[in-house]
Amino acid sequence: MRKIVIAGNWKMNKTPSEAAELATQIAALENNKAEVVICVPYVDIFAAKQAIAGSKVKLGAENVHWEASGAFTGEISAPMLVECGCEYVIIGHSERRQYFGETDETVNKRTKAALNAGLKVILCVGELKEERETGKTEEVVKRQVIEGLKDISAEQMANVVIAYEPVWAIGTGLTATNEQAEEVCAFIRALLKDLYCDCVADSTTIQYGGSMNAKNAADLLAMPNIDGGLIGGASLKPADFGVIIAAGDKA
Ligand code: PEP
Repeated sequence: MRKIVIAGNWKMNKTPSEAAELATQIAALENNKAEVVICVPYVDIFAAKQAIAGSKVKLGAENVHWEASGAFTGEISAPMLVECGCEYVIIGHSERRQYFGETDETVNKRTKAALNAGLKVILCVGELKEERETGKTEEVVKRQVIEGLKDISAEQMANVVIAYEPVWAIGTGLTATNEQAEEVCAFIRALLKDLYCDCVADSTTIQYGGSMNAKNAADLLAMPNIDGGLIGGASLKPADFGVIIAAGDKA
């Protein structure tokens, strides 16, 4: 049985006091089977940690540097995140790739550092609109998965979640159809079989992300190869996030 992971990506939203309020509301949501994670801005980690204490909600960050310490002004390392109570970290989000020069190589370095420090990684992959329109989706996703997971062992894969996030669907209100999302998630699973083994392919959680919301979550999560969601906008609305968690509990 694969773990269903419903993760909120708060992006650059919420001050610490606002984060405490939102995390308190999320901690109060009913949650049975699905693993619920909130990935928050660095400055909100402390407030969110206090707010979710005693609940089943897990804490995550939105990025991490690959070095453990040193002269990297403005960066945060994996051991720092671990000591602050993070269990998860998002790596390779398309906004980092688009706006902050993230490459497959740096995604891989961050992934290795995070896993070595004991964090669980949500590795984001996904094609741009023009790549889908020119039939390059599988080529792009394949490259991102292979490069992102370079030198990651089968054992380490137990701590990797892959989030398929078509870039054209993120924050746009455009959602991939259930079939489009399922097709790429199934493609990623087949790729994991080639790269590792049946066991890794069958046990790795593969999320869909891209305008998942209270209305479309149940249908997306009912697809056989979609094991959760990475949710931006709707994760900031506790009632909507609660509906998505409930759909995850039933998946
Ligand atoms: C995301 O930030 O990963 C995301 C999928 O955002 P949204 O749900 O707002 O499209």
